[in-house]
Amino acid sequence: MSTIDGSANIWAITTCRVSTPEQKENHSLDNQAKSVLAAAEKLGAYIPPDGQWSGDASSKCGKNIHRKDIQEMLEYCKRHKRVKYLLVSSPDRFMRSIDEALHFEVEFRLIGVTVYYTDDPELNGANVATKLRKLMKYYEAEASNEERIRKGLETHKNALNEGRLPCCPKFGYKKTFTSGIHDVNDDCGVGALLGDILSRIASGVITPTEGMNEMNAGEYISNGKRKPFKMDKWKKIISDPYYAGYVVGSKQVKVVNPNGLHKPLITKEQHEKILEILRGRKSCHCAPRKNGNPHFPLSRIMLCEECHKAEIALGNTGRHDHSKFCGYTNNNGNGKYYDKYECRKCHKRISREYAHEAVREHIANFDLTEDGRKRIIRQLEVVWKDEERNRKMTIVQLKQRMTNLNKQKEGQVEALCRCSDDEIKHELEGAIKRTRETLKKTEDELNELENSNDAEKQGFMEFALDFVDNLAKRFFDLSLDDMRKCELLMFPSGFMVGADEKVRTPETSPFYRGRTTKKDLPNTEKSLMAEGGRFELPLQVSPD
Ligand SMILES: [Zn+2]
Repeated sequence: MSTIDGSANIWAITTCRVSTPEQKENHSLDNQAKSVLAAAEKLGAYIPPDGQWSGDASSKCGKNIHRKDIQEMLEYCKRHKRVKYLLVSSPDRFMRSIDEALHFEVEFRLIGVTVYYTDDPELNGANVATKLRKLMKYYEAEASNEERIRKGLETHKNALNEGRLPCCPKFGYKKTFTSGIHDVNDDCGVGALLGDILSRIASGVITPTEGMNEMNAGEYISNGKRKPFKMDKWKKIISDPYYAGYVVGSKQVKVVNPNGLHKPLITKEQHEKILEILRGRKSCHCAPRKNGNPHFPLSRIMLCEECHKAEIALGNTGRHDHSKFCGYTNNNGNGKYYDKYECRKCHKRISREYAHEAVREHIANFDLTEDGRKRIIRQLEVVWKDEERNRKMTIVQLKQRMTNLNKQKEGQVEALCRCSDDEIKHELEGAIKRTRETLKKTEDELNELENSNDAEKQGFMEFALDFVDNLAKRFFDLSLDDMRKCELLMFPSGFMVGADEKVRTPETSPFYRGRTTKKDLPNTEKSLMAEGGRFELPLQVSPD
């Protein structure tokens, strides 16, 4: 350091700053340090070791008032009366704002400290011409700072519009040779695992918490490549639209581009689903769609045999039974999607294709008995009446809901009229808009229900009879709703998947009997059976 020691009467503190990474690499700090050291020698000032500041924060206009280092320097100078100088290489290293630079020059002067520019000692003169030059330097610094920010933002915006994300790769991604286009990270398969977990969260197979635990237990994190997630960080990850293909800017760069050039891990629908789950999360484990996902009709009617036994032993029945399979779309991280069903309890997975084929094959082994046909018509009436009862109940509920919503809206409108605070007004307007939207939705739902009539019953009966006659062929062609109704009728206990991955029906309605000969099966089904397909025959075969 300086040859002048602490016994000197004059002390000087120093500050060196760099504001861009390039400046760091150019040893800007070294140069600044040399400059201030030389000046200290000339001034005969001692630089105390604890009187030196450096940093890389850019001193943006308006941000300096609360700058921590400036506050520390002021405190230091007040404590050490011998400090007479604050050495800084050039005005733009001190501050990039005219107002604030002048303000702080005065602040320091009031406690007997001169801000001294070491690169250009002329700036330290007291005459008007010098002051004007100094002012110009600050003016340049402020202007160039604005220019730098503006240019930076412009480049950032362009990148986002092109679908690139010009910053560090997100979790699960890695850099490529192209700036801003990141690739799924295959290190320990972390990218693919994330995609898989996101897909399963979206379909309600696992909860966000279970997803986090799975990620933390995964190879990537247990190998110490990243510290385990906690919920707050994890929520940010799973709700990040980047994984659904978006690139999104910042507060300053308001760009949302849904067509990022990176490979997404999930679809936009899955992303929406996750947001919905995060927004409306209660303790509910599975978050099935209100009307189910028609792509996975076996969700919740296909059960895992072993887990089901365990659940029954625990007394968990009905909707508390966690041994149900849920369908979801799995992404391997390479843009390929696989449809699977997963047991919510043991997380055993089977492919959608296999499950559907196995169920179809299983159903093909039952014939409707003559008597069964007669009785099924009666039974269908019962099912239909049940539906009617449900419909009427839902109508009553929806009407009540409309009344409540209308009351809510009135209250909000009244509050808005009384309100004088702009911010609250704005919030209220938003709330009213949301209430209106809910009202509209509820009204539509109600109208639809009230307008469904007997024609529908006719349709239901026709399709049901056709259905029971061609059970296997038709099962997967049905609308989800109808499929549920009929499944309830034919196989009241749903389908069961055993440890051997074979599908059986523990309970069959009395209308059907198992076929003893394997007739009428298409070739594909025969070949599947040749692989050792095992069929449980129904326990009840007689009609009464
Ligand atoms: Zn299971």
